[in-house]
Amino acid sequence: MNKKIEKQCIVCKHKIIVNQGGNGECFHCGWYNNSLGEENENTVIFPNLISLNKAIKLFQEGKSLKPDLNDFLDGLYNYREMKFSYNNLNCCVFLKGEKQTIIEFGWSPNNIQYFKDKEDFFKNAKIGNEYVRNIWDKVEDPSYI
Ligand SMILES: [Zn+2]
Repeated sequence: MNKKIEKQCIVCKHKIIVNQGGNGECFHCGWYNNSLGEENENTVIFPNLISLNKAIKLFQEGKSLKPDLNDFLDGLYNYREMKFSYNNLNCCVFLKGEKQTIIEFGWSPNNIQYFKDKEDFFKNAKIGNEYVRNIWDKVEDPSYI
């Protein structure tokens, strides 16, 4: 049987229900409480899209726990398959190549771009005429696949 345990969310301090491993989502702030994320407080680790220390900082500033483009790309290198939507385009971002370092980015079979690394994507990835880094505040639902 799965025993339910009460715990204080590490980010917002609300009481939440977690499983025996101490894992569970906080419905107040959105942080997924999990031991791996707590042990690696400056790393983006699935299923969260930002690091624990950044989540605490954003929460204290009254901001939502939304990943910036750097957090999103850190998540990509941790998990390998990400998505977001923009202007009704469902954009996918994958790691490819022998060493899983090449970034494949696209929203349809006719619209696929490749980047050699995170910096290349950050600098050069575009949707139409707009750089992804410039429209990042307007993308919706950045998440793991
Ligand atoms: Zn919380």
